[in-house]
Amino acid sequence: MKNLVILGGGYGGMKILNELLPNHLPEDVTITLVDRVPYHCLKTEYYALAAGTISDKEIRVAFPEHPRLHMQYGEVTTIDTLGRKVILKDAEPLTYDDLIIGLGCEDKYHQVPGADEFTYSIQNIEKARLTYSVLNNLGPGSVVGIVGAGLSGVELASELSESREDLNIKLFDRGRHILSAFPERLSKYVENWFVRNNVEIINNSNITKVEEKRLYNHDLPIECDVIVWTAGIQANKIVRDMDGEKDRLGRMVITPLHHLPNDEHIFIVGDCASLPHAPSAQLAEGQAEQIVEVLMRRWKGEEPPASFPQIKLKGILGSLGKKHGFGMMADRPITGRVARLLKSGILWMYKWHNG
Ligand SMILES: Cc1cc2nc3c(=O)[nH]c(=O)nc-3n(C[C@H](O)[C@H](O)[C@H](O)COP(=O)(O)OP(=O)(O)OC[C@H]3O[C@@H](n4cnc5c(N)ncnc54)[C@H](O)[C@@H]3O)c2cc1C
Repeated sequence: MKNLVILGGGYGGMKILNELLPNHLPEDVTITLVDRVPYHCLKTEYYALAAGTISDKEIRVAFPEHPRLHMQYGEVTTIDTLGRKVILKDAEPLTYDDLIIGLGCEDKYHQVPGADEFTYSIQNIEKARLTYSVLNNLGPGSVVGIVGAGLSGVELASELSESREDLNIKLFDRGRHILSAFPERLSKYVENWFVRNNVEIINNSNITKVEEKRLYNHDLPIECDVIVWTAGIQANKIVRDMDGEKDRLGRMVITPLHHLPNDEHIFIVGDCASLPHAPSAQLAEGQAEQIVEVLMRRWKGEEPPASFPQIKLKGILGSLGKKHGFGMMADRPITGRVARLLKSGILWMYKWHNG
């Protein structure tokens, strides 16, 4: 029997399972899925979990079941690529024939002193729950500072402003306009939404230090009851600590077939992989499909393709509370209720397809 070990049951890991099970897994291959969480988590919705507008249960999806799928719940601590072993915190090491690493990402604090210690996060389920708890236990009039107005910062600020109209939300962003990766027209639409909904945007900010309940913008102190960091991501530390070439986000440089240049049995999927696109769930899923094709061909004794066409991304959609949204679909800006409906529809479809 060959053992395929998948680290991380996020969007990349889950897509690989869904492509291989139930019909495509050769009789002589078993899969071991390792995750610290016993279900697939819908990370794209962590902003709503933190804001208190959806329940925890709504963003959990059961992993698939299959006689040759073994679930290993637990914490990966290191990967011994020479010994072909995955080291786990409280369990025996796992050996693999093929390994897929899809452990996602973590916050990147850009060396801002105190940011790691004194800010809350929505980058993993445990942290998003903690953020939910502190945000929703705040008294009326409390000040919430959200650092970083990319997609996740904007979604959190807008959702929280609808969830807790009594809070004073300040959204700090480095740029002249928020959502710097989007066309200016979209940024202005979102800024106007925030003005109407009493979220204060602080453009051209530079957070130089964070202390308990205080952040410094250009070295000027601003008191906050809770500070949430949404100002950048990097690959999971386990990947950052691996030998091999990485990009500035600590993501592994991979070949066009998504494996390490010096080891064709170690694939990297999702936010851990260095790709010419911004990390996203869609990208992780597109990559997962291609990885499955490589594995299937190899298992049949066939040569995998030399390369794949570029992964097609359909666009990106963001929410502004429950009724409005924004995004880019087929390179065209889209705003308002239609954008929000589309986003809800995509989430509904994802849950439906995943059980
Ligand atoms: C608020 C927010 C909104 C977003 N909105 C969108 C969107 O609208 N569209 C979009 O395409 N993308 C969106 N993204 C990005 C998207 O969520 C990620 O790109 C996607 O989750 C990456 O998938 P992945 O498989 O690489 O990792 P993940 O989905 O993060 O999964 C990683 C898995 O690894 C497990 N894990 C991590 N470390 C360990 C360990 N040491 N041991 C064991 N298990 C471990 C985790 O439990 C998790 O299950 C959003 C992200 C956020 C935070």
